This record gives sequence, structure tokens and C-alpha cells, in this order.
Amino acid sequence: MQDVTERQLLHQKLVQQAHHDTLTGLPNRLLLLDRMEQALASAARRGKKAAVICLDIDRFKQINDTYGHAMGDVCLKQVAERLKSRLRADDTVARSGGEEFTVIVGDLVSAEDATRVVEDLLSALRKPLAVEEYPIDVTASFGIAMYPDHGLEAAALWKSADAAMYRVKRSGGNDYVLVSQEISQSTTEANELELFMRRALKEGGLEIFYQPEYWADGRLCGLEALLRLQHPKFGVVHPDRFIPIAEESGLIVPVGNWVLREVCRQSVEWRRGGLNVPRIAINVSPLQFMRVDFSRQVRQAVLDTGIAPNTLEIEMTETTVMRNLDELARQMRDLADLGVHFSVDDFGTGYSSLQHLHQLPIERLKIDRSFIERIGEEFGGTRALVRAILSLAHSLGLQVVAEGVEREEQAEALVSMRCDMMQGYLFAPPRAAQDIPALIRLGHAPMSWRPIPVRTVF
Ligand code: C2E
Ligand code: CA
Ligand code: CA
Repeated sequence: MQDVTERQLLHQKLVQQAHHDTLTGLPNRLLLLDRMEQALASAARRGKKAAVICLDIDRFKQINDTYGHAMGDVCLKQVAERLKSRLRADDTVARSGGEEFTVIVGDLVSAEDATRVVEDLLSALRKPLAVEEYPIDVTASFGIAMYPDHGLEAAALWKSADAAMYRVKRSGGNDYVLVSQEISQSTTEANELELFMRRALKEGGLEIFYQPEYWADGRLCGLEALLRLQHPKFGVVHPDRFIPIAEESGLIVPVGNWVLREVCRQSVEWRRGGLNVPRIAINVSPLQFMRVDFSRQVRQAVLDTGIAPNTLEIEMTETTVMRNLDELARQMRDLADLGVHFSVDDFGTGYSSLQHLHQLPIERLKIDRSFIERIGEEFGGTRALVRAILSLAHSLGLQVVAEGVEREEQAEALVSMRCDMMQGYLFAPPRAAQDIPALIRLGHAPMSWRPIPVRTVF
């Protein structure tokens, strides 16, 4: 008998742990969605409204940095207490992320009822927290979504409330806003991806894949870092879909910085593990380069991680090269002095002038995949074009990489035209970081590709 009750207690404890946040004791995301569904169902039955409220502590990172994580945790606990003290017993407050809480209030008649609750929560935070005698001021940003006005589904309401909360954040925080009708209706995939990227940046969900590049004779010469987004609904999202959204929203700057740091960190980790890590290239958006502090950010990442700067390469598009040449040249020289390499991506699709390229410390051109695709065609002159790019590049002292090499004939044609390096599915697709050490140890292209010995080419 006793054994059974003990087991039951243990079971209850485990269930409790799985549904609650250990720090604050509040329900976690798992339980939150459940409670949300219940609140919405109950509102529907009784013809009432319910509110989903997202709130995020403003500048929490600063609190953590100033007072340390332990004190940050105490702050979170106190905020949780204060929120709880102002809510009714059948309302829910959950910790839904690092410094983010979600409140569900049911049994409402109008949106004003919800804003009154939020005003009360705002005032609960007005008195400074007392963490080991330090008075710490906290404020928070709130976004409110109403059922059924702004949506019928728990997840959709939550997203809308989250988006509204970020609008408050962007305009300085310490305030609340109600989801507006037009926003809730235009919560399109783009919005969803933007939100998700913000979250991924904070909580993980971004991942880097690496694709090898090989010399014409098959030796490994480098890796290209390619970003991936792991989305619970869309699965693995490719950068062609989310980079434009990140550029439009300005998120590309923190995302790009994350990529830079993660690549440096990974490279150093591999090196410490005894691997002979080749250079790794990152893709940098023109928007990153337009920031005056871009080269400083790279320097800082190099310093912080201890990566050898000459194992880092930056790929930029022709559009970047054509913009704001003086500023660009200054930043590139600064980094080139450090040892960082540069290459021009998607070469042939833009309108960069060779004169410009020649003034910049660029070492490589990457011929765009579209040329490689058509290289096997008898007519149309693609082959001649590729040959011309190669000879021009070589006469300027630049190396050439062919991207998107998928078939053996393409590789053979490229090698016979003295293309320096190749990258593409023929050799290897982009792979997760865990698969890369084996590839580095192998050190040359897999045997499916038998390179033509270089001396027979001429
Ligand atoms: P990209 O720089 O031209 O990267 C090469 C793209 O071609 C990659 O797509 C790669 O998976 C794909 N690819 C490689 N070999 C082959 C092949 O043999 N055949 C075909 N059909 N495709 C091949 P991915 O990873 O989807 O990246 C797409 C673009 O997104 C990249 O084009 C790059 O412009 C951008 N991107 C990726 N990561 C980042 C990043 O961290 N920052 C920025 N700003 N842009 C990024
Ligand atoms: Ca690239
Ligand atoms: Ca490219």
C-alpha cells in the first residue's frame, strides 16, 4: 500500500515538474497552452471574452549584466509574485520564456476589462524590487489579444499578443497595446517567421550548416556557413525564405552577428579538438556592411573567440560592392589587415564593375550557380562566358570558385577551363556541424568524384 502511494506521489511530482517552471513555480509553456484552450472554451460556452496577455521585462539583459544571473533570477521570482498577487485565482500567469510571462484572464465582458487588468499589473511593477537590499527598477511591455475579437485559436491569439508586445518594446517599453484588427488579420507567414526568428535568436532555433569547397584536384579548401531555421510548423526553413524578411525588419544585423560568432566559436572548438580546420566563409548582407561598426564587430568576435582571422572569409554580393564604396573600402581594409579574406558571391548576376573590385581587397569570385547549370549546353555561349570570367579573374589575380556543381561533366568542364575551386551537391550538400569533422579528416572530395589530374588538363 505504502509503496503505491509513494509512487503516486512521485508521479504527481513529476507531472508537476513537467508543467511548471522550476525557478518561479509558475506554469510553463506546456501547461499554458492547455490553460488557454480551457479559458477560451469556457468563454465560448458563457458568451464571454478572454484575454491573452504577453509581457516581457524591459532591458532584462542589462539587469543580468549589471547584477549577475543569480540576482536576475531573484528579480524574475519577485516579478512572478507581484503578477500573481494582482490576479484572481482562476486567471493564469505562466513563465513562457526567459524574461517573458503570459497571462490569461477569462470571464471578461469587454476589452476595457483586459486593459484595466494590465494597468493594474503595470502599477504592481512600479515599486522597485528589493533584491538583497538593492532597489531595482523594472518595467515591462504588454501586448493584449482578445478572444474572440482578435482570433479564435489559442496559438494565433498568443502570437498576435506577442507581436503587439514587441511593438511596445520597439517604442520604448513600459506600456501596453491591444492587438489591432488589421494586425491580427495580416499575421501572415512573414510575420510569423519574423517573430519566430526573434525567438530563435534569444532561445535557440538557429543552426548553421556547412558545405565544403574543394580545389580542382579534389583537396578540401574551405567551408561555407549556411544558416538554417528550425521551425516547429514549417520544419527546416531555408535562408532564401527568411533572409529577405530579416533584411526588411533589420533583424539581419543581430542574426548576422550571431552567425559570425557561432562560426568563430565552432571553428575554435574544432581546432581545439585537434582538427585541421580550413577557412570558413560566412555570408554577409549589405545591410550589415552598411553599419559603421561592422569591422569592429568582426574584430571583436575574433578577439573574443580566438579564431585565427586568416581562417575567416566574408562573402559579399555584388550589390554590397556597388554601395558606398569609400566606407566599404575602409572597413574591408581594416579587416584585410587583420587577415580576413573576402570573396564576391553570385558573381555574374549583378553589375559590379571590375574597376571597383580591383580597388578592394577581394581574393575570390564565386561564379553564380545559374552559369554552372548551363555550362553543358552546346549553344548559348555560357561556356564562353565562364571562360571569359575565369581568364579575366585570373589576370586580376583573383581565384574563382564555381558554385552549384551537380554533375561530373560540369566539374570536368570547369577543371579543363582552369577553375580553381568547386562547391556543389556533386561533392557534398550543406551538412550539420556534427557531420563536418569526418569531412575535414577525409580532407578531399568523396570518391564519387574522381578528379582529373591537373597536369593532363593543359
Ligand atoms: P549562396 O551564398 O549562393 O549559397 C549557396 C546556396 O546554394 C545554398 O543554399 C546551398 O545549399 C545551395 N547549393 C549548394 N550546392 C548546390 C548545388 O549543387 N545545387 C543547387 N541547386 N544548390 C546548391 P541555401 O543554404 O538555401 O542558402 C541560400 C542563400 O541564403 C545563400 O546563397 C545566401 O545568399 C543566403 N544565406 C545563407 N546563410 C546566410 C547567412 O548566414 N547570412 C546571410 N546574409 N545570408 C545567408
Ligand atoms: Ca554564399
Ligand atoms: Ca552564391
